[in-house]
Amino acid sequence: MIVLRLLAICALALAVASPAHAQSGAQQKLRVIASFSILGDIVAQVGGERIELVTLVPAMGDAHVFQPTPSDARAVATADVLVANGLNFEPWLDRLVAASGFRGRRIVAAEGIAPLALRSAHDHDHKHDKPAKSGGRIDDPHLWHDLTRMQTYIDTIAKGLAAADPAHAEAYRTRGAAYAAELRALDAWAASEIGQLSKEQRKVITQHDAFGYLAARYQIVFMAPQGVTTEAEASAEAVGRLIRQIKREKVQALFFENIANPRLIEQIAREAKVKVGGRLYSDALSPPGGEADSFAKMYRLNITRLVEAMKRD
Ligand SMILES: [Zn+2]
Repeated sequence: MIVLRLLAICALALAVASPAHAQSGAQQKLRVIASFSILGDIVAQVGGERIELVTLVPAMGDAHVFQPTPSDARAVATADVLVANGLNFEPWLDRLVAASGFRGRRIVAAEGIAPLALRSAHDHDHKHDKPAKSGGRIDDPHLWHDLTRMQTYIDTIAKGLAAADPAHAEAYRTRGAAYAAELRALDAWAASEIGQLSKEQRKVITQHDAFGYLAARYQIVFMAPQGVTTEAEASAEAVGRLIRQIKREKVQALFFENIANPRLIEQIAREAKVKVGGRLYSDALSPPGGEADSFAKMYRLNITRLVEAMKRD
């Protein structure tokens, strides 16, 4: 395993051994890397025309288990700024940065935001991946599902871009503030939609524990058989327990996620005799032109589908 990992690092390092660094003239755009598609859209909203953006984990991709390629390493090597979520959402990133020889500015969007602890950490097997831990608790990295926390997230990105490109600092601040206001309005809409539902109706089953922040923000109970990372297999015991709970509590809202295999949810739907409410976007956008090709569209679509399914009785 260690040998394989070393080989992978060597391959990445060789791929970027002689990067053709372009001259960074005053008129040149800031070259920015975002680690995954949701963050990529947020960075694009804040950066606008001033930046040239490359996103590593593509639309519909799963950042928990992503494997960077030599071309990713080359893109990172020549970038001015690298924006990541943090909280160990991108467990592969430090290795990629080391292999690429990246010397630009790193922005960690989650910095300064109080994370929630993962509720079901004790249930799941994290042997391959090490989520951010502090004193036995595991921090939940899926911050983007809470639009109030996103205010700080956007501010951190705007400040980071401004620091990397001081000549356009004001433009980043203005765009960041406008986008933050758009998301505040979206949050108010979501709160009023969910506000129509009773406490008993606010129960949802999803594939992996990606919606803890949305749950906390709008008092919804989310249950997931797979835990926080998509890498771990759900145990038969956890699935059986969940099916009994769905029947007991009459849960009506059962969802696929765009980044995960639908098999497990299909099995649960069959055994618990509940209809699947469609697909939620948890950790990635849809491809461009699709139904959730921006973060704001993705968020609105998730809320619309959730409310529709929770209303059923
Ligand atoms: Zn996730």
